[in-house]
Amino acid sequence: MSTEFDPTAILSEPVPTPIAQSDLESNGTGDGGKRELVLGRNVHTSCLAVTEPDANDDITGDKDAYMAGVLARYRKTLLERTKHHLGYPYNLDFDYGALAQLHHFSINNLGDPFIESNYGVHSRQFEVGVLDWFARLWEIEKDDYWGYITNCGTEGNLHGILVGREVFPDGILYASRESHYSVFKAARMYRMDCIKVDTHVSGEIDCADLKVKLLANKDKPAIFNINIGTTVKGAVDDLDQVIQTLEECGITQDRFYIHCDGALFGLMMPFVKRAPKVSFKKPIGSVSVSGHKFVGCPMPCGVQITRLQHINALSRNVEYLASRDATIMGSRNGHAPIFLWYTLNRKGYKGFQKEVQKCLRNAHYLKDRLRDAGISAMLNELSSTVVFERPMDEEFVRRWQLACEGNIAHVVVMPNVTIDKLESFLEELVEKRSTWYGDGKQVPPCVARDIGSDSCLCGQHK
Ligand SMILES: *Cc1c(COP(=O)(O)O)cnc(C)c1O
Repeated sequence: MSTEFDPTAILSEPVPTPIAQSDLESNGTGDGGKRELVLGRNVHTSCLAVTEPDANDDITGDKDAYMAGVLARYRKTLLERTKHHLGYPYNLDFDYGALAQLHHFSINNLGDPFIESNYGVHSRQFEVGVLDWFARLWEIEKDDYWGYITNCGTEGNLHGILVGREVFPDGILYASRESHYSVFKAARMYRMDCIKVDTHVSGEIDCADLKVKLLANKDKPAIFNINIGTTVKGAVDDLDQVIQTLEECGITQDRFYIHCDGALFGLMMPFVKRAPKVSFKKPIGSVSVSGHKFVGCPMPCGVQITRLQHINALSRNVEYLASRDATIMGSRNGHAPIFLWYTLNRKGYKGFQKEVQKCLRNAHYLKDRLRDAGISAMLNELSSTVVFERPMDEEFVRRWQLACEGNIAHVVVMPNVTIDKLESFLEELVEKRSTWYGDGKQVPPCVARDIGSDSCLCGQHK
């Protein structure tokens, strides 16, 4: 260090000069704009720019007033958008007012939930309470499981598949074609061989195809992603049938690992009588669920549970934390476990069961009403995801925030989706359809390939 070093010296002008638009144009994508074809251009037109405070802002309060105005308008948009939301499986109905007092704390659960780190502003006591609740739901003893509150369902999948890979380093990942994209992302990240298994028209994994593919690769261990509710069709893979297929192929328990992706229905299926039970009494390795979907939470989060015996292979002690590193992320949201704890306490297993019943009932109502109106629609038996013909008009799709894929769209009936809301959606859809198709110049799409000819009500199939 030079003797002239002055630790109090600061830059006289810390504000960087703005990047001229023409520079952005030529260099913004880093490869001469070639990516535009793939990803499109990043949109900056609707962004709320961060502006430098004026020298006298402290006195005039102009900036504070401006920001308060922006936030008030934003809040209004959120209220309106929350009212017209049907396509993504988020329960938007909750009241966490009692937790507002905690916003002043930087709660961080970095490290292992079961090994206290030196950072004292944490919520591990809530986290472990929530994990115990889920362990009981999925039938694993407190001393036999390990888990943590993740940032989302994706992180649960990344973790579950990583545990599988650590247990079987040369294992092949099997997942149905209709698995969530995070599963295939995991395969890319971990450079695992991945085999996509065909699905039935319902979206469920086709065990006959699975068998063929397993037999062709019998020399390698098998790692599975099993869907407890697929993203698009809400299909539940038959866990028991998958286990039976493994048996038939002569693949013993010391040669396979099953991760259950319950992001969507992981908290719904346990309460439905006919559903294949997700339980650690069966030879599964891990289960994950999203916290912001069925449970309802103001920030994305999730729960991941695995067997304790597996986690030792994966974890490393970290002196800096005085804890163990067995999670995907480093810092972890310490607020999320408190929100989950709060809801689980209020609702309990019985409360969730009631909500599941209501959702399944409302989903049936929506499916029946769509079909009565001559609109192609499908609802899997164990699901609250109603799949139907894609509305022709993108504005309608955006207004109701529907998720679409090809010719189909879906509504996921969550606890906040009431009959009233479905009524106004149906009314609007029927009215719009008469303007799209009324004159006969255009016809509704055929969706037989997507949801089966029984569910398709297009001109050819009805
Ligand atoms: C939503 C979803 C995920 C991912 O969950 P995020 O919380 O959005 O990361 C994974 N799998 C399925 C089946 C899902 O529906």
